[in-house]
Amino acid sequence: MSAAKTHGFQTEVNQLLKLMIHSLYSEKEIFLRELISNASDACDKLRYESLTNAELLSDDDELAVHVSFDKKKRTIVVKDNGVGMNEAEVVENIGTIARSGTKQFLDSLTGEKSKDAQLIGQFGVGFYSVFMVAEQVALTTRKAGDDTSNGVIWSSDGQGEYSIEKADIKERGTTITLKLKKAEDEFLNEYRLKNIIQKYSEHISLPIYMPKAEDEGEDDKDQPKDAELEWETVNKGTALWARAKREIKTEEYNQFYTSMTYDSDEPLSVLHNHVEGKQQYTSLFFIPSKAPFDLWDRDRKTGIKLYVRRVFIMDDTQNLMPSYLRFVRGLVDASDLPLNVSREILQKNQAIQKIKSASVKKVLNELKKMAEKKPDDYQKFWDEFGRVMKEGVVEDFENKELLQNLLRFATTNDGEEKQTVSLKDYASRMPESQKSIYYLTADSHAAAKNSPHLELFRKNNTEVLLLSDPVDEWLVAHLHEYDGKSLKSIAKGADLDDVQDDEAKEKAKEQEKDFSDLIEKFKKALENKAKDVRLSQRLTDSPACLVADEHDLGGNMERLLKAMGQDAPDSKPILEINAEHPILVNLKDNNDKVEDWANVLYDQAALSEGAPLNDPSAYVKRVNSLLSENL
Ligand code: ADP
Ligand code: MG
Repeated sequence: MSAAKTHGFQTEVNQLLKLMIHSLYSEKEIFLRELISNASDACDKLRYESLTNAELLSDDDELAVHVSFDKKKRTIVVKDNGVGMNEAEVVENIGTIARSGTKQFLDSLTGEKSKDAQLIGQFGVGFYSVFMVAEQVALTTRKAGDDTSNGVIWSSDGQGEYSIEKADIKERGTTITLKLKKAEDEFLNEYRLKNIIQKYSEHISLPIYMPKAEDEGEDDKDQPKDAELEWETVNKGTALWARAKREIKTEEYNQFYTSMTYDSDEPLSVLHNHVEGKQQYTSLFFIPSKAPFDLWDRDRKTGIKLYVRRVFIMDDTQNLMPSYLRFVRGLVDASDLPLNVSREILQKNQAIQKIKSASVKKVLNELKKMAEKKPDDYQKFWDEFGRVMKEGVVEDFENKELLQNLLRFATTNDGEEKQTVSLKDYASRMPESQKSIYYLTADSHAAAKNSPHLELFRKNNTEVLLLSDPVDEWLVAHLHEYDGKSLKSIAKGADLDDVQDDEAKEKAKEQEKDFSDLIEKFKKALENKAKDVRLSQRLTDSPACLVADEHDLGGNMERLLKAMGQDAPDSKPILEINAEHPILVNLKDNNDKVEDWANVLYDQAALSEGAPLNDPSAYVKRVNSLLSENL
């Protein structure tokens, strides 16, 4: 045995350990769930590797987890015969947190104990949770296939440092020994431990063993050696998804969901299918009721679990569900794939592509059904996942039809921020004369709702979709039309024919003549800012607004692209002015300050869109100079 080396934990680990020890003590029992989940992962990995290298299993081929405790020594031991780790892997895996999402995780903690404990499970910083209950932890491990002399003993008290030494270890796999803190004796109890295992790990598909009960009242007796113990399994360990649907109770599905996701809320929907015929596979999908904290994290590793004939193969994040359905959890168990399928093969595999395409349709049809039969549930779903679903319209042309009917929007109808109106609802309310579906994009709901562009539409009671999610700009760019009606931005172009009556059109012609002189002066004053200046047909209360040319991107889209660091063409907007507004009525006859007025009106129109001003101090100076004139 070589001498032990001492290392310091990475800063983030220390931060996490402190958090774990000081603020999450209400859910201490999850440490066992985390250890068993790691043991189960290690066994899955070994099973997978042994498909191409059978020698790794040698004669120890029943992969299992053993959990035991010793009242006298006050220890709990969790042991697996999975892949194990070599020294470099121990240092890498238990001592640093490699994932880039760590900071995001730490930021997302709420300070509320039960919520945070749940987050820890989702994030998978599981191993460190042992320090909630243990004052000293030893991990001995030897990698499958390595020489017995390549064993490693890692140990730590969770106070900033850990030590590592080489050791001779006969059996492959990992054994974790916790020396419990003084106050944690409750875990030195057979029923307590069994109970935790059943609560969290019932459906882990490998056996979890505990020693058969001893006689009561012999706490001080020395624990017999492992070999002398009689072990019994404490979990069912059967693959739930392989059973017939009609035999499975809702609670069983829910429990399975929780054990797979650590999400303690019940799923909104369960989709379980045994597919027979040319291609045989089983899928079990869950639609969660809440969005996970990392839904927008690109490094997110959760996805759909792929099994082949009940052997776990991998967590897959792209081949079984498209990115816009990344909130769907569950698994696919395929019968016809080779067991040693790799990620690369998976990408090109026709059978997998067919399973994916059928799975997407299953999920979308389930949502369609929910929207029709359980609109309240669907609304909950949309509130959580609507923004992701909108990506589907951009990405998934094949299912456009299904997807566009699942969309929900806020509109001027109720003015609420909640997105509740479907395109079908909207279309069914359109008067005969209205040809297009009108929408307005802005960077917040408030900005959309209060936009001057809406004035004419409000006056005429024409409903307008109010879009304020960043993805909406892409959505409308791909949607184009619904049910033969084109989608039209009310902040673009000049054609408002179908919301205007003939009388208004006549009046507009008159005003053109009256204002032609003023408009020329405005154009000159705004030469560098505006593409054009014209009289507006869409304003009733505001003096001016900006509109984009029919084929320009529009202000909101340009700002979004710039915020993402992309090149956006700097197209100039068109300034529209309101001929009925007192400011302009006065300016028409008395325009010696016209340059100031033109600039102030332009800047105000930009502000009301939520756009930043290029030269805020020039704006302030102009406003002050105009105000002081009237003092
Ligand atoms: P996660 O399981 O989400 O990766 P953990 O903190 O639970 O995070 O574990 C960190 C890493 O340590 C695991 O990814 C794995 O590589 C390694 N590890 C932990 N426990 C074991 C074990 N029993 N056998 C082999 N490797 C393990
Ligand atoms: Mg883990």
